[in-house]
Amino acid sequence: MTVRAGITGAAGRMGRMLIEAISDSDLAITVGAAIERPGSSLLGADVGELIGRDAKGICIVDDLATVIGDIDVLIDFTQPEATVANAALCASAGVAMVIGTTGLSEEQDERLQQAAHSTAMCRASNFSTGVNLAFKLLEQAAAVLGDEVDVEIVEAHHRHKVDAPSGTALSMGEVVATTLSRNLKEVAVYGREGQTGARDRSTIGFATVRAGDVVGDHTVIFAADGERLEITHKASSRMAFARGAVRAAVWLAGKASGCYDMQDVLGFREGSS
Ligand code: NAD
Repeated sequence: MTVRAGITGAAGRMGRMLIEAISDSDLAITVGAAIERPGSSLLGADVGELIGRDAKGICIVDDLATVIGDIDVLIDFTQPEATVANAALCASAGVAMVIGTTGLSEEQDERLQQAAHSTAMCRASNFSTGVNLAFKLLEQAAAVLGDEVDVEIVEAHHRHKVDAPSGTALSMGEVVATTLSRNLKEVAVYGREGQTGARDRSTIGFATVRAGDVVGDHTVIFAADGERLEITHKASSRMAFARGAVRAAVWLAGKASGCYDMQDVLGFREGSS
């Protein structure tokens, strides 16, 4: 079966990448619909033209409800409010959803979890294979180094990014905190200024850089007295996220309702296939 994917935010940075990734993919997936926000100057444009290719016969619309019957999976990289509204629609139509949007509030997060009771949903703060492998390496590093090290997370992104720290940096913090039996909410330190006092070893520090066109750099530093381990991932193209999301969409089609992530898609979690 060829999976028909809907792309919300089709004209955005990730939306265009997703259309390109699907067009070039060897997997059984095709673009079934493309959706942009009402008022977008690109409504009516063909998705092929959007990425500088031949027309594909799929034009951008502004209402997901009108094309929900044309898709098996919605791939959503937009903004939190739109993603939550789209999830409610997908849940009632039984359409699976791959969600890349970051910066959701706790309440918005809760609403996505509710929607996942009625449909299969794959969410990841970062869909790249390299970052998801890094999560596994971080787990291993934290388990071995334990409470003997200071943990700091440094991330850099392009000047247009609207949330900080990045969803990926927060996920990395979660992995380390969970492995060390700490609660990230209690131990996270987001930036330092002035008379901060000496560092408390149980904290996990975050530092954010926003500059130029950086696609996404993340480094987790495990620093002890006398040595330092750094695990770094650098994305040089958004295509890394798009390919992962496309892989997730194909994996997700036909799965039972519930919340999945890239660890499931890549088979890193026991019992996942
Ligand atoms: P962008 O601003 O370039 O694109 C977002 C698009 O969504 C825009 O074209 C906008 O018009 C559209 N949009 C907004 N509201 C809409 C609505 N109601 N209906 C349909 N379309 C709507 O942003 P981007 O760089 O593509 O990033 C989008 C999101 O994806 C951000 O939250 C970003 O942090 C996240 N992201 C996640 C990953 C990952 O791997 N999880 C990777 C890159 C970006």
